[in-house]
Amino acid sequence: MNKIAQIFETLEYGPAPESAQPALDWLKAHDGIFGHFINGAWTRPGKTFSSDNPANGQSLAQVSEGTAEDVDKAVKAARIAFKSWSALSGYERAKYLYAIARLVQKHSRLFAVLESLDNGKPIRESRDIDIPLVARHFYHHAGWGQHRDREFPGQVPYGVCGQIIPWNFPLLMLAWKIAPALAAGNTVVLKPAEFTSLTALLFAEICEKAGLPKGVVNIVTGFGDTGQAIVAHPDIDKIAFTGSTEVGKAIRAATAGTGKGLSLELGGKSPYIVFEDADIDSAIEGLVDAIWFNQGQVCCAGSRLLIQESIEDRFIAKLKKRMASLRVGDPLDKAIDIGALVAPVQVERVRDLVKKGAAEGAQVYEPDFDIPGGGCFLKPTLITNVSPSHTVVTEEIFGPVLVAMSFRTPEEAVALANNTRYGLAATIWSENINLALDIAPKIKAGVVWINGTNNFDAAVGFGGYKESGFGREGGKEGMGVYMKPAWEKDLKPAAAAKAVPAKSANPLDGGDSIDQTAKMYIGGKQARPDSGYSRPVHGPGGNLVGEVGDGNRKDIRNAVEAARAALGWGNASAHNRSQVLYFLAENLQYRRAEFAARIREQTGEKGEAEVDAAVERLFAFAGWADKYDGAVHNPPLRAIAAAMVEPIGVLAIVAPAARPLLGSVALLAPALAMGNPVVLVPSDKAPLSVTDLYQVLETSDVPSGVVNIVTGDSAVLARTLAEHDGVDAMWYFGDAAGSTMVEKASTGNLKQTWTSRGLNYDLADTGKFEGDYFLRRATQVKNVWVPYGA
Ligand code: NDP
Repeated sequence: MNKIAQIFETLEYGPAPESAQPALDWLKAHDGIFGHFINGAWTRPGKTFSSDNPANGQSLAQVSEGTAEDVDKAVKAARIAFKSWSALSGYERAKYLYAIARLVQKHSRLFAVLESLDNGKPIRESRDIDIPLVARHFYHHAGWGQHRDREFPGQVPYGVCGQIIPWNFPLLMLAWKIAPALAAGNTVVLKPAEFTSLTALLFAEICEKAGLPKGVVNIVTGFGDTGQAIVAHPDIDKIAFTGSTEVGKAIRAATAGTGKGLSLELGGKSPYIVFEDADIDSAIEGLVDAIWFNQGQVCCAGSRLLIQESIEDRFIAKLKKRMASLRVGDPLDKAIDIGALVAPVQVERVRDLVKKGAAEGAQVYEPDFDIPGGGCFLKPTLITNVSPSHTVVTEEIFGPVLVAMSFRTPEEAVALANNTRYGLAATIWSENINLALDIAPKIKAGVVWINGTNNFDAAVGFGGYKESGFGREGGKEGMGVYMKPAWEKDLKPAAAAKAVPAKSANPLDGGDSIDQTAKMYIGGKQARPDSGYSRPVHGPGGNLVGEVGDGNRKDIRNAVEAARAALGWGNASAHNRSQVLYFLAENLQYRRAEFAARIREQTGEKGEAEVDAAVERLFAFAGWADKYDGAVHNPPLRAIAAAMVEPIGVLAIVAPAARPLLGSVALLAPALAMGNPVVLVPSDKAPLSVTDLYQVLETSDVPSGVVNIVTGDSAVLARTLAEHDGVDAMWYFGDAAGSTMVEKASTGNLKQTWTSRGLNYDLADTGKFEGDYFLRRATQVKNVWVPYGA
């Protein structure tokens, strides 16, 4: 056979090497050693460490280890720059972002080569995916910069943002963080990951070339300690982090009580569901992208294959054949599918997890071909014969390792898909669009791809549910996390509630012959407190006006259980939820006089105005229930992304001590409007206005379990709620110490928290609180990608 015929026969590729020279020349121009980029200038290199090429272990450059002093200098520069940067017109900011986009594009090949050298990812990916998406991000956010005030009226930037990014998409994660922060008017101090600092340093040079005012972008390189110094810096207003769930939890704990804004984009163990009617060849190609893109070092990697049992054998056989044709090798070879993992420590970590899987009884398959030695290379790996509790099924492996399981029914697929502490992404393959669109809303994940996978775009939000974090990157939601209402900066500390001495300290005094102790309200039924104790409620003169149950952990557990059983409230139509809230308002209005009298009894204030405000608030959110909804994005791909606004889940609310009725209703109404079942702890000073609501709830068609009320000591109950893994989000009205406690205690399942931090939020203010303030906090956006158009 002649050579050409042979090539056609074997379909063997020859090498197609990309030259490393331009990137090496750039490193040489910097003498192979870098300081930090602070206040628009390069610092003298300090103590340095080596950034290595994981494909061959050779050192590429020396990078400085950022100290707390370096971080402080960068924060000071960012603080000074914030004044003028945030005062620029949107158009001016847009021009800078546009200039950055243009320069990234102009130098795209240099960025791509440097990224592949430093990270080990195939040049095919850095050239065709990472860098074009970086440019797209800056272009897209130039527009947000210009339209910020129109689209986000009343919102202002946080100030100085500390941003900490991982090594898997070094420049892309930088773009995801810096573009929205700058568009919103913030300045930034960013730390790249220790393994992959080089493209961030090249980006700093692009900022110089774009004439970006000094101090707007500061890059401080270093290890985890440098990240910690950023998190701990008192003059940073917001932290944005992408990385492991473990470090994300540490950052949540470290920022508790500081009032810093926080968004976390963490790990995943995303399901890749293939139904029996899927186009199997497409699903296999999708799977190659899902798990072997970037060597599987992708937070949203489709690392858990769930196949319908009827096609399992055929699918696995085809998959093994396809795995055998994947090419592992030099990342700078353009015909390579799988490059090098980022560092030897990651190779060891992945190997250990695979070994553990085998030790637990799993079958491990690797194709029979050679891979290069001397670098961080691993073969594509498939693990079968596992059960849901296997380590390799539950842990994020973050390498080229796929774990496969089967299911029989769509219900079982959903149960397996959701059987994880993560909730970042999911993929569904089926030629039956009805089936795919039936499954998508049932998956607890921030992104769902139908008949496609790993689609990303700047216009489409990305981020997780559950322990995959909170906040979004990209899209309008992504801009939202870099701003806050202007009025928040004027909040003053709330006056401490006046302690009213009880007329008698004897617990037996004041009770009538009949038991008037209000019970708890759990699962639609009145329940006695587990403790068997009650708490007195005193009027303004210290007189006993009633008693309520003294709730404890057991009552909270029962209430959370009832709320979880009522999660179906989120599937009720928005129209239905709206009707229930209107009905609630109407029934409260009927009993205006009685509720007003109860407020007067407890507070000495005339209660009519508060009842009227509570009725108005219920009306307001009944009106919002079917209007606060999503959008359809048109990314530059053959797809649309439906941004669906979903409830977060079980929401715990600790209401303020003041305004016994409105204080609870103002928080309950937006939570219910958006479909969250609630566990409510009413004012512990004046809980009777809420215990009187039971009958109103019962007569207003509120399904049982949707509102659960536990009375007692707010601080004690708040801790139990914050620690409870069955609670998905928590709003806490109380003092600074209690707020810190709630934020710290919530790290267990990374529940989303909102705390008042002892500040004087006036919930009666309709301008501030009848709008989206709490609606945003009651919801999370799921982006469902669907093939669309030609
Ligand atoms: P980390 O979460 O440790 O690193 C992410 C970033 O945070 C890096 O810049 C890191 O610095 C920095 N950092 C580390 N510790 C702290 C801290 N205490 N405070 C502030 N910043 C800190 O991920 P690793 O690089 O260690 O990877 C470990 C595992 O995490 C991976 O195997 C993978 O499973 C997972 N991971 C998940 C990612 C995702 O997107 N889901 C991304 C990266 C990792 P430095 O680089 O110096 O450590």
